[in-house]
Amino acid sequence: MVLMGKLDWIKEELEELKKKGLYVTIRVLQSAQGPWIVVNGKRVLNMCSNNYLGLAAHPKIKEAAIRAILDYGVGAGAVRTIAGTMELHVELEEKLAKFKKREAAILFQSGYNANLGAISALLRKGEDGVFLSEELNHASIIDGMRLSGAPKVIYKHLDVDDLKKKLEENKDKKKKIIVTDGVFSMDGDLAPLPEIVEVAEQYDAIVYVDDAHGEGVLGSHGRGIVDHFNLHDKVDFEMGTLSKAFGVIGGYVAGPEEAIEYLKQRARPFLFSSAMNPPDVAAAIAAVEILQKSDDLVKKLWDNTHFLQKGLRDLGYDLGNTKHPITPVMLYDEKLAQEFSRRLYEEYNIFAQAIVYPTVPLGTARIRLEPSAAHTKEDLKLVIDAFEDLGKKTGFLK
Ligand code: PMP
Repeated sequence: MVLMGKLDWIKEELEELKKKGLYVTIRVLQSAQGPWIVVNGKRVLNMCSNNYLGLAAHPKIKEAAIRAILDYGVGAGAVRTIAGTMELHVELEEKLAKFKKREAAILFQSGYNANLGAISALLRKGEDGVFLSEELNHASIIDGMRLSGAPKVIYKHLDVDDLKKKLEENKDKKKKIIVTDGVFSMDGDLAPLPEIVEVAEQYDAIVYVDDAHGEGVLGSHGRGIVDHFNLHDKVDFEMGTLSKAFGVIGGYVAGPEEAIEYLKQRARPFLFSSAMNPPDVAAAIAAVEILQKSDDLVKKLWDNTHFLQKGLRDLGYDLGNTKHPITPVMLYDEKLAQEFSRRLYEEYNIFAQAIVYPTVPLGTARIRLEPSAAHTKEDLKLVIDAFEDLGKKTGFLK
């Protein structure tokens, strides 16, 4: 439909996005999420999914979802506080709390909603308090603070001295809430949590960590970044998503029992949006059980990560400061990164996303690769070989 009159501005905005190169083309998958996917009838190697452990199409998880549909149907029917809490929701909250070694957990419909709901409930406009937010925090954290309306102070990326300085400037505020991503999704670098916790203790500040990319990847059995640094009970809130390593959908926040009870009374997406669907909840329960029982998939993920990253580094590629399967192959130039992504897809059947400005600063364009436990070494060798060939063809590798 051609938009006219009062909606003309939409057409203009879309054109503006295209002109600036910010228009996102959305590719449609015709297969399950996995190491190989079908896009437009073409089978391609998938190097840009957060399905770190390959659980999105795991047989045990699919079975659990099917069983839940037969027992509970497809929808939760209401928000949690009205009639939307099923025994499955309670079971998943208990299992997640146990997995994260925390007292309790609260479920949300997504990781985005978890951050939106919890952050906005912990500090509200007009209260005597401030958020101390890391410079590169995820959009859902930023939106949570916006929904709160309370003041925020940004501290520099990975810079604990800057955090300390800003805590000192705000030391008389009653509530000081440090909010940080655990793993930064564009670079794969880790928040310096032990140092953050130390300054938080000095200033009696609350620590809230977004562990979306840490769980299933870091720590024993993939318990996440807090477990990785052995900081249980020193970090107040651990937010997680069920959509990445767990392979499903949904989000949660784990922490002290009373604080979680408080979030159930106050977090807006919990109160005003319907609960997670039963098959998704059952699938997530099965995913947690798989991780509780065995860390084989986590080990495989790391084995694959080391193989891929060593192969690329040996070719001379700069992978930045990654400490995680997130593998930024630095190409610096925006156009070159777009060209790599397009040619990887067209010439090598590899689906890998270019990450460019404004998602990352100008001059730091890259291809972000994400290996998974479901890839084989042969799959990853194809990627290394493609980067060697394309690097030489484009003149990027000397
Ligand atoms: N936090 C971070 C750091 C993320 O990368 C994401 C997903 N892109 C989210 C939160 C939101 O999670 P979800 O996709 O489950 O809404």
